[in-house]
Amino acid sequence: GVNFKGLLRRNWLLIATVLSVLLGISLGVVVREYASLSHLHKQYFGFPGEILMRMLKLVILPLIISSMITGVAALDSEVSGKIGLRAVIYYFSTTIIAVILGIILVMTIKPGVSQTAEHIDRAGTTPNVTTVDTLLDLLRSYKTEIFSEDTTTIPPLTTTVMEVLQNITKDYKIIGTYSDGINVLGLIVFCVAFGLVIGKMGEKGRILLEFFDALNEATMRLVQIIMCYMPVGILFLIAAKIIEVEDWEIFKKMGLYMVTVLSGLAIHATICLPLIFFVIVRKNPYTFTLGMAQALVTALMISSSSATLPVTFRCAEENNRIDKRITRFVLPVGATINMDGTALYEAVAAIFIAQLNDYALDVGQIVTISITATVASIGAAGVPNAGLVTMVIVLTAVGLPASDVTLIVAVDWLLDRFRTMINVLGDAYGAGIVQKLSKRELERMDLTSDVDVANP
Ligand code: ASP
Repeated sequence: GVNFKGLLRRNWLLIATVLSVLLGISLGVVVREYASLSHLHKQYFGFPGEILMRMLKLVILPLIISSMITGVAALDSEVSGKIGLRAVIYYFSTTIIAVILGIILVMTIKPGVSQTAEHIDRAGTTPNVTTVDTLLDLLRSYKTEIFSEDTTTIPPLTTTVMEVLQNITKDYKIIGTYSDGINVLGLIVFCVAFGLVIGKMGEKGRILLEFFDALNEATMRLVQIIMCYMPVGILFLIAAKIIEVEDWEIFKKMGLYMVTVLSGLAIHATICLPLIFFVIVRKNPYTFTLGMAQALVTALMISSSSATLPVTFRCAEENNRIDKRITRFVLPVGATINMDGTALYEAVAAIFIAQLNDYALDVGQIVTISITATVASIGAAGVPNAGLVTMVIVLTAVGLPASDVTLIVAVDWLLDRFRTMINVLGDAYGAGIVQKLSKRELERMDLTSDVDVANP
């Protein structure tokens, strides 16, 4: 028969996390119904979740630095070039597939055709930016810091939106402070360069390689501890969110739009990605997805691929047994630039807004949407609601007003969670696929290298 005890022991954390999600939702609904919390009390209520977010964000920096540097340095530059190229090809093709899927769905379901933009209230400020501005900002690699400290006068959701919009027009520092949020793309570029240099230094570089390898090991042990706290943090995170949401009516108005986005994400996650995985890797993709479950639930709860990264690492390496030389390289880059869910969402949202405005799109404009949605997903940082900011690129490229982002803001907190989950799943599948494609190089390295730093 089934060994229930063994099953429980092996998956206790996942079970606890799922239970805490359910408990958190119920708690949120009950508190919302029967207690009216003051603003201060709401903040207390959200505190345990806030702590979880802070802990996760704290380990991202050492995690990305140590894994990217050792990941690059442990491979010779030719091999890392090949692996990098394969990863980039995977990122691009799956992102494009997601965009096309989204476009097909939104053009057949037509969620915006029966209503008009006036029926959905426009709220918030109007960002005064153009496609060029936004593209430049991507190069400057902006940081979106969503978790606001000052929520005394304005409702949290509005604050969030305002901050996101302000971020578009902000003056960007090249080197931000750590507490500002992390400029992950810049960090990755630096770590690749640094890793390559260390790899070329031979004996002399070894001490640095060992240092960063130890740092990586230590960080992952911290992650293990943080994960034990996760069920508690998640319970309050989701409960606080449910108490905080102001407008549930909007979900009825935007129902069809949400169904379009969610079914697109579901099809991508259960059909497109698994199919590609199966064709290349020849293993059961759903077992692979199950192995990532903890990371997927985390992404759903905290809507940030970057903050989920520590958990993604653990699931990919421990459950799905992906080679560390692959994960260290492919996962951090993936969390930053590979966002299938975001790309799909951006395409659907842009066409939905066009439908609301009775704005007919020609073939050229639809092609433009697919290209800009891809770019916008690459440019979006792995933090909550980032996709909403880069939406502006897509809208302005086809002549829609950038301010129409406000039409979809109210439901974004929910869609953001689901697209982040698909973003993380896409990164994980990418690691599995790149590992399979790079099997020969990895085996050759196992034979030639005397000490294997990445897999001691
Ligand atoms: N929250 C998403 C992520 O972290 C980005 C987005 O807003 O689409 O992956």
